[in-house]
Amino acid sequence: MNILVTGGAGYIGSHTCVALLEAGHSVIVADNLSNSKIETIHRIKEISNKDVLFYQIDVTDEQAVEAIFAKHALDGVIHFAGFKAVGESVERPLHYYYNNLVSTMVLAKVCQHYGVHRFVFSSSATVYGENEVPFKESMELLPTTNPYGETKAMSERILMDIAHANPKFSVALLRYFNPVGAHESGFIGEAPNGIPNNLMPFVTKVAKGELDKLRIFGDDYNTVDGTGVRDYIHVMDLAEGHVAALDHLDEGAHIYNLGTGEGTSVLQIVKTFEEANGIEIPYEIVDRRPGDIAYCYADASKAQKALGWTAKRDLKAMCTDAWRFEKQYQALVDMK
Ligand code: NAD
Ligand code: UDP
Repeated sequence: MNILVTGGAGYIGSHTCVALLEAGHSVIVADNLSNSKIETIHRIKEISNKDVLFYQIDVTDEQAVEAIFAKHALDGVIHFAGFKAVGESVERPLHYYYNNLVSTMVLAKVCQHYGVHRFVFSSSATVYGENEVPFKESMELLPTTNPYGETKAMSERILMDIAHANPKFSVALLRYFNPVGAHESGFIGEAPNGIPNNLMPFVTKVAKGELDKLRIFGDDYNTVDGTGVRDYIHVMDLAEGHVAALDHLDEGAHIYNLGTGEGTSVLQIVKTFEEANGIEIPYEIVDRRPGDIAYCYADASKAQKALGWTAKRDLKAMCTDAWRFEKQYQALVDMK
């Protein structure tokens, strides 16, 4: 299939491009590079030994999106493009609502116009709110605590309504749990700007000596060791989940959790990282982070049954692959 990948230069999008190319699909990326670098597109080509078409456009720009649809016979769209920093979304709500909602509506509208019926959307486990674990797709959603989470819940709703009104429209709403790690080549990975918000990129910066220690947000949750529990999933498993979703798309809107079904605490991540890579991660316990919940992990059985997909890579691989990318990243940037 000929697939338009919005946000394909970003963390999850770039790994999904590799998985799509490996599965024999053709890839056209649309990204405004607001949170990524063109170098990533070169690296996708190097890893896969295949070509990728790239358009530097903003996907809220309907004319620019339409020009791509007019030029290429597309079979489907995977929509990753969006802003994702929870804290920033509280400070800049309009920025988040505009980018994340308008991009989704523009793409859906242009898809309708050009008769492109396959649509895969990046949603998030954050839409469950503080529900009972494990989170199941059939659960009623609870309010999220921030505009970012609301953009995901609203985008899901918009796409569900469009699918309801247009029976041919086939949408997969993929609720990601916590993607970590990198492609095993170490060529692409997660490279956030500035000080990372998320756990794994923070840990790799501490391992590299760029940050002095990890601050663990709370050890008084009702969990195995008091630290927060999440469902960490290797980004290449997540990427392959997109290929499976695309291959199994049926008419209507279908929601799938993409997680492992396993919960891991912050301290367990630190320990696994230390053992897997032979590096000590100094840490201190600080106050809870506002908005955090104790537990978040998936019931991953629906994706397994319906898509024949399951996460294969373990926590150790997530830690070694994340560290390999972090070590090579600066060296590769310096080379170019
Ligand atoms: P990312 O920031 O690395 O990638 C997003 C990409 O979209 C970037 O390359 C950015 O330049 C691009 N982009 C943003 N707005 C755009 C616009 N208007 N037009 C064109 N390009 C635009 O983020 P990611 O971690 O790869 O996340 C991808 C998607 O998955 C996002 O929608 C995010 O909300 C969702 N998601 C991510 C996580 C996570 O933990 N990383 C978890 C759940 C859901
Ligand atoms: N966390 C932490 N220190 C950090 C970053 C994260 O202790 O510097 C914890 C956080 O409280 C949560 C887990 O690690 O329990 C995962 O956080 P992340 O921000 O990566 O993902 P999310 O909160 O979206 O699940």
